[in-house]
Amino acid sequence: MSIVVYGSINIDLTAYTPELPRMGETLLGNSYLISLGGKGANQAVAASRLNADVYMVGHVGDDTFGRQALISLSEYGVDVSGVNKLTDHRTGLGVISVDDNGENSIVVISGANMYFAHSDVELCRKFLKGAEVLLLQLEVPIEANLLAARAAHHEGVKIIVDPAPVTQMPSDIYQLADIMTPNEIETEMLVGILPSSPMEAAEAADRLRERGVDTVIITLGSAGVFCASGEGNTYIPAFPVDTVDTVAAGDGFVGGLAVAISEGMPIDHALRWGAAVGALCTRRSGAAISMPDRNEVMELVSTSQ
Ligand code: ADP
Repeated sequence: MSIVVYGSINIDLTAYTPELPRMGETLLGNSYLISLGGKGANQAVAASRLNADVYMVGHVGDDTFGRQALISLSEYGVDVSGVNKLTDHRTGLGVISVDDNGENSIVVISGANMYFAHSDVELCRKFLKGAEVLLLQLEVPIEANLLAARAAHHEGVKIIVDPAPVTQMPSDIYQLADIMTPNEIETEMLVGILPSSPMEAAEAADRLRERGVDTVIITLGSAGVFCASGEGNTYIPAFPVDTVDTVAAGDGFVGGLAVAISEGMPIDHALRWGAAVGALCTRRSGAAISMPDRNEVMELVSTSQ
């Protein structure tokens, strides 16, 4: 089963601190981590850890962080032959603070991720032949997403769009997306409804489906997942786990969902796979590094919620 991820690759510098610093404040943290991040890379690693063949297309800078990111992706089993090293751009960087309650604040410097060339789409096209799923997020230029989505549509590959970080998208993206996975805040930004009840989630999902998305999955953090498709609406609660930090829970969710879809699982099963990966990755610190393996996920999905 193969999955193509066209998206961002970052190095994350994460500071663990008793509380998040207030404006103008300097405080002493507990520890730090330098690790692979970026929504594209996180989703690629999440899927690869579940034994999918994953092809990453994107950009890093020709610098220390870029080399480190490529080594790390390869170690997770992701094919990086579609990742270009750019000499005149720097590798994307995430600067993250996580407090003792697991709350975080994040600054992202896009760097090489915002570079786009038409040859990237050709690369994508090559990997899409024979693939089941294309994963897109919004940390690369929207034009790149649009062209990759058109190529995937042409190849009959399912397209999952994670509208994060949220921005207004051209109408074609909605029409091309088989699945869209906004969280609560992204949902509010896209349709003006903060889904704090199942009725509001259903109304928000309807608005997105009216724009052409086939299946809308609204992730609600520890409150679970709401899904609306042509087959009706479903809600599943989150798996109870001991959460350390919620960094990249959404990326884990998408990776798990994508693998399940690529293996032909029905949507209610795929939702459980997504929710299991999302939950399990909150038990460990960090982004890509926190993604669970297939055995952990199979064990959790076999339990009742
Ligand atoms: P994002 O990181 O994009 O905001 P969410 O926080 O909604 O995404 O998380 C995605 C999914 O991961 C949730 O729908 C849920 O299934 C799972 N998840 C997230 N946080 C937790 C948590 N604290 N406990 C259990 N599951 C969680």
